[in-house]
Amino acid sequence: MKVAVVGAGYAGMYAANRLAKKVRTAEITVINPRPDFVERVRLHQWLAGTADAATPLTSMLRAGITSRTATVDKIGDGVVRLDDGTSLDFDYAFLAVGSTARPMPGTIPVGTWEGAEQARVALAALPADSTVTVIGGGATGIETAAEVAEARPDLRVRIVGPSVAGDFSHRPHQRVRTGLERLKVDIVDDGVTEVTDGTVHLRSGAAFASDLTLWAIVSGVPDLAARSGLTVDAEGRAVVDECLRSVDDERIFAVGDCAAVPGARFACALAAPQAAHAVNTLARLLAGREPTPYAVRYVARAVTLGRKNAVGQFTRRDDTLRRAYVTGRTAVVVKELASRGGKFGARTGTGA
Ligand SMILES: Cc1cc2nc3c(=O)[nH]c(=O)nc-3n(C[C@H](O)[C@H](O)[C@H](O)COP(=O)(O)OP(=O)(O)OC[C@H]3O[C@@H](n4cnc5c(N)ncnc54)[C@H](O)[C@@H]3O)c2cc1C
Repeated sequence: MKVAVVGAGYAGMYAANRLAKKVRTAEITVINPRPDFVERVRLHQWLAGTADAATPLTSMLRAGITSRTATVDKIGDGVVRLDDGTSLDFDYAFLAVGSTARPMPGTIPVGTWEGAEQARVALAALPADSTVTVIGGGATGIETAAEVAEARPDLRVRIVGPSVAGDFSHRPHQRVRTGLERLKVDIVDDGVTEVTDGTVHLRSGAAFASDLTLWAIVSGVPDLAARSGLTVDAEGRAVVDECLRSVDDERIFAVGDCAAVPGARFACALAAPQAAHAVNTLARLLAGREPTPYAVRYVARAVTLGRKNAVGQFTRRDDTLRRAYVTGRTAVVVKELASRGGKFGARTGTGA
């Protein structure tokens, strides 16, 4: 049985390694544009110089799994076509191409490896007293602004978004903002209309100069599913059935950020459970058993505020917020364990 895994992020790696363990006869090929597994949840650290974010795929894949460094141009009819002109047949495929960023002109995206690398080089070249603007008041923006401010206290760091830390409620919201202010990050609750010649223009009509402007909003997904003729939602995510199979082709499972799972947001925390469920489904089908439906399940939302502080607020299964939250060292440890757990799951295909 030939299996193609398209994308070697959290979902793809988890799926490949779990499948190799559960279905030993599967011939698995993982296709990814880079020969590395990129820990996207550490890209803000990578650009600020506080952590590495790439690990060679060869050290992450179980024995017997083949990897190809290429981009898939099309998937369907039991074939994946690669950008190097070759193609691979498959009996089953896992579409796991993740999400992407659509940066405003004049900004550098932090949510992709290429963007984070560009930002890292630009940040390292900035002289003292320069201004860094981080656009995006969600988790990626908060973590990026805090990480840069802590690593480079010689810079002025500003975070801009219509409602910075608005994904938290009650006191955690305030704790995130206080944590940013302690790191001397200026918080600007406003939308950005455009960035021109190093000037950031706001919806309110205000404008300010910025030496480096980072786009810290993750949105949209690679257009592979749409380009391949699979049914997609408004964001371009592949529409799946309750067992995470494409509604157009039962041989293709879609998992992680690129799957249109009702109630799912872009989250590393969902990538492994979805990959686990899809692999379990395939194993059940091969054994002649009925598959079971997948259900989204959240636990918490959390952001790091540099290396010494963090805030985490617990959620119900459906992602609505509970009142309980943790801060400070406890939250740092919990968040770090979650990040390490994501990589461990990707390497072993266990733990989801
Ligand atoms: C700075 C930052 C911090 C974050 N923090 C958190 C957090 O704390 N908690 C949380 O839950 N989530 C967090 N996220 C979100 C999380 O990183 C994503 O939800 C997660 O990476 C999704 O996993 P995935 O496997 O679906 O996709 P990805 O990890 O994006 O992997 C997709 C892979 O597919 C490859 N690919 C793309 N197109 C193709 C193609 N055509 N052919 C072959 N390969 C292709 C990509 O190169 C990539 O390797 C954060 C994101 C960022 C940027």
